[in-house]
Amino acid sequence: MGTAANPNTALDHHLATVLERIGEVSRALRLREAGEADISPLQLRIMGFIADHPDTQVGVARLSDELQISRPTISVSVRLLVEQGLLLRRADPADQRGHTLRLSAKALRGMTAGSPLDDAVAALAPSCKEALLLALMQVLHQLVGSRKLQVQRMCWTCAHYDGDRKEHHRCLLLKKTLKVRELRTDCAEYEAA
Ligand code: SF4
Repeated sequence: MGTAANPNTALDHHLATVLERIGEVSRALRLREAGEADISPLQLRIMGFIADHPDTQVGVARLSDELQISRPTISVSVRLLVEQGLLLRRADPADQRGHTLRLSAKALRGMTAGSPLDDAVAALAPSCKEALLLALMQVLHQLVGSRKLQVQRMCWTCAHYDGDRKEHHRCLLLKKTLKVRELRTDCAEYEAA
């Protein structure tokens, strides 16, 4: 006689499948966007990262670390973006051999305000967004912790975080209680715990 499937396990698998599906759809949308702009999905990620970090130095080494892609691959993509006039390469004042990258005016004109995924999330109820953010942060935390991945400057792996990762969140550095919506996954002040 077979054992009845555990309903929780089935739900876990269903949730994991939906998350993977969202990733696939997102990648497909990126591909379409890239096709329209004649750049690769990786180049879109590079430009997206630079656009999201306008106040910090971003060079090939940092992109390689952040996107978890080898330096030679990043280097080739960056060179092509520079040749296409979408990125500007400037000497890094802090490192004579290094360069810092900026989006060109042409790239800024071509960047859309939000992806289709942004629009889909915007349609959710506010309470649903907070619950989703909390749940996704827990998933990300589990993944990062169990695989020892070097990613995510998130509150829950930060030395300044004080809380229960459920209802109570406080940043000791900023000296403030954080609402769920204020929890960070890419914090400039992050310090590894
Ligand atoms: S420093 Fe940033 S990542 Fe760390 S707890 Fe404060 S807000 Fe979160």
